[in-house]
Amino acid sequence: MKYLILIPDGMADWSIEEFGNKTPIEIADTENMDFIAREGACGVANTVPRGFEPGSDVANLTILGVDVRKHYTGRGPIEALARGVGGEIIFRCNLVRVDGRIMADYSGNRISDEEAKKVIDVLNAEKPYDFVEFHAGKSYRNLLILNRRFEDDVTTYPPHDIQGRRIDHYLPSDGELAGLLRELIEWSAVVMPEVTEKANMIWPWGGGRMPSLPQFSQKYGLKGAMISEVDLLAGIAKGMGMDVIEVEGITGYIDTNYRGLVRSCLKSLKDHDLVVLHTEGIDEVSHEGDAERKVEGIELYDENIVGKILDRVDLDEMRILLLPDHPTPIKVRTHVAEPVPFAIYGSKKDDVRVYSERSCLKGKFGRVDGLWLMTLMMKK
Ligand SMILES: [Zn+2]
Repeated sequence: MKYLILIPDGMADWSIEEFGNKTPIEIADTENMDFIAREGACGVANTVPRGFEPGSDVANLTILGVDVRKHYTGRGPIEALARGVGGEIIFRCNLVRVDGRIMADYSGNRISDEEAKKVIDVLNAEKPYDFVEFHAGKSYRNLLILNRRFEDDVTTYPPHDIQGRRIDHYLPSDGELAGLLRELIEWSAVVMPEVTEKANMIWPWGGGRMPSLPQFSQKYGLKGAMISEVDLLAGIAKGMGMDVIEVEGITGYIDTNYRGLVRSCLKSLKDHDLVVLHTEGIDEVSHEGDAERKVEGIELYDENIVGKILDRVDLDEMRILLLPDHPTPIKVRTHVAEPVPFAIYGSKKDDVRVYSERSCLKGKFGRVDGLWLMTLMMKK
């Protein structure tokens, strides 16, 4: 038996008035996803435990059966896994634009990779402590690594959540670690304006110690592969000892290299027991708030990913789990911590005929904890 998990990031949504109170999935022509729902069994799953941010890291870990309440230490450490760097404590380190103490742009005016690298190099050259290290990533998404133990924790705020607000209310406070972060933030505001006009401050958040994630092969007795368009998922996969498959020409948008993704997926299924195929485009158009585009993205996904895979695998020897990691409703243009519809091909059929947020509610699995999805898929 082979297993395939299809994860169209952010696909689930709410009813949209202009669509006659239907969701983008309900409006879109999705015969292939409907096939999985009709020939399989459905339900809805909670992929984000109470008290967690509905990030793709948390949701996808849950789908892979990793209890984030035990294993999640922050976004920074997961991104570090993806980039193959380590340290004692790791923060995501945005390069941000602050005007008059107001968080003006969490992305440093979309600073280019090159310019960001220049900033990181200067920060590293002039850093006040040896145990502090900056690691360049993509654009505003960089890492702050602390190679020293701290006894206390710190509360930080994602900069995209405090846009337009005074940063003083959100600076780290209380404790030694918080004190260090504050010092580095204020120091960066002196150093950075000499390097770039786009960003004038660092903003560390999502920090934690490096996690020890359960190993996929030990947990399930299966050889697993991850195909994804984002570093975060590659990081999770590396942390779990899965093979990470690179695909050329992917864009992380709805114009991505669908053929390449499908080809890699089919190839990986030959020498792995389980393949995760995670695509990012539908989430991106959801963040843009463009409902028509989202419908278009869903139809492209259905035809070019789901359809092409269904055409070319031996369905008798196959189990498929289809679900978005979290909803990204057009109306709010951000992730929400609400259940997602899922369909499992290879499971004994139920009465659900089409794949959607509403129809899956009536599936035989009902509402389940996302941690059980792997078990449900593998169960005879
Ligand atoms: Zn997103």
